[in-house]
Amino acid sequence: MTTKVTFRTDSCKGCGLCVSVCPKHLLAVDKDQINKKGHHPVVMTDQSQCIACAFCATMCPDCIITVEKF
Ligand code: SF4
Ligand code: SF4
Repeated sequence: MTTKVTFRTDSCKGCGLCVSVCPKHLLAVDKDQINKKGHHPVVMTDQSQCIACAFCATMCPDCIITVEKF
């Protein structure tokens, strides 16, 4: 299975809720980036390990995350 997680990065508020629920610990708030809203956005650290459970997308209050599997 191939998976793909994408983010509406400019709208992420860096709250970290998605980071906390990923069972594979694949998401991180990127302190080196600042988005258009002035927040550190979340990033994927290792797409190859994602199991497409979509816990992250479900948790995000702002619907920033899309999870796809092929
Ligand atoms: S889909 Fe699941 S495994 Fe993949 S990043 Fe989101 S929470 Fe983590
Ligand atoms: S839960 Fe949503 S808004 Fe919060 S850090 Fe994750 S993607 Fe960004």
